Amino acid sequence: MKSCPTCNSSNGLRKIIYGMPDGPVDEERYAIGGCCVSDNDPTLKCVECGWKGEFKNSNKDKKKVVHVVELESTEGMSDSDLDEYAKKLWGKLTNDGKGWSDNGDPKR
Ligand SMILES: [Zn+2]
Repeated sequence: MKSCPTCNSSNGLRKIIYGMPDGPVDEERYAIGGCCVSDNDPTLKCVECGWKGEFKNSNKDKKKVVHVVELESTEGMSDSDLDEYAKKLWGKLTNDGKGWSDNGDPKR
């Protein structure tokens, strides 16, 4: 078991849970972090001194907007066909270089 870097308590550390838990939370092990999740939330909290830390990028656990393009078979394509195809794909992925808004819509 880890101990708190501030007060050295080894039983004060709780893993912070964000969002609504599915059921009763074991308060010996967890602390509720609230339902507002930012990109850089502490994942550990000490209930003895209030220390919070061990920041982790929680992004990877969240659903991200992913733009998917259907890949065609490049078999039998000539070099210039491949070139065209790559440009077309790139255009789809980047919305013709304009990118995507945060809500997933193409930028205008
Ligand atoms: Zn502490």
